[in-house]
Amino acid sequence: MQRARLLPPPIAPAAPPTPVLVITGPSGVGKGTLIRLLLGRCPGLQLSVSATTRPPREGEVNGREYHFLSRSDFDQRVERREFIEHAEYAGNRYGTLRSELERPAGGIVLEIEIQGARQVRETLPEAVQVFIAPPSLEDLQERLVGRASDSEEQIARRMEVAPVEMAAREEFSTVVVNEDLDAALAELASLAAKMCGPDEPESS
Ligand code: ADP
Ligand code: 5GP
Repeated sequence: MQRARLLPPPIAPAAPPTPVLVITGPSGVGKGTLIRLLLGRCPGLQLSVSATTRPPREGEVNGREYHFLSRSDFDQRVERREFIEHAEYAGNRYGTLRSELERPAGGIVLEIEIQGARQVRETLPEAVQVFIAPPSLEDLQERLVGRASDSEEQIARRMEVAPVEMAAREEFSTVVVNEDLDAALAELASLAAKMCGPDEPESS
């Protein structure tokens, strides 16, 4: 009896964490394109807005495509452990703020490069991870050039790391080759079906 009185008061069970879907793969493979289409089909899914030190591209809005931070702001947030993962990529820093995973949703999508995906594998082992692969390195280069959003120097830096990133596909149990966009989207939608919410797409 005495012991029972010393027990702490019961607490409400914590809400189950929001499921996380990690989409990774080399820059230019089509991650952003596929995610945009997936979000259109899955009302329950929300995109995590990453932080970066790279300057905004034309049309990018702070808080929508990225939280654009100065290097010192980014570094201070690293010190304060505000990121669940962060990495240096092609001369800039990128990271996922913890706060992005706290919103209620059927699922949260992270669009991140490989080093970050590896960190999430350790910190959130229950997250679903998908590696998006291009049909070939030539296709990747064509897509980066065709996107016309990066300087020649940025494209070169991205192509320099691409072979190393491609080798990392072995680490992922789920690989989607983005050759035909519709086919890749259908594969992704079926992987994300549980996080889609009431209007789940038919798995095909
Ligand atoms: P990432 O987000 O991985 O850097 P993007 O989504 O920006 O890549 O795509 C890079 C370029 O490739 C864009 O111009 C996009 O329209 C194009 N693209 C995406 N998927 C395909 C595909 N299956 N076939 C041909 N081009 C594609
Ligand atoms: P971009 O400069 O083309 O927007 O992004 C460059 C690379 O950084 C892409 O491969 C993109 O997926 C990745 N990236 C974007 N946000 C994050 C993030 O929060 N963390 C990590 N690790 N990579 C990110």
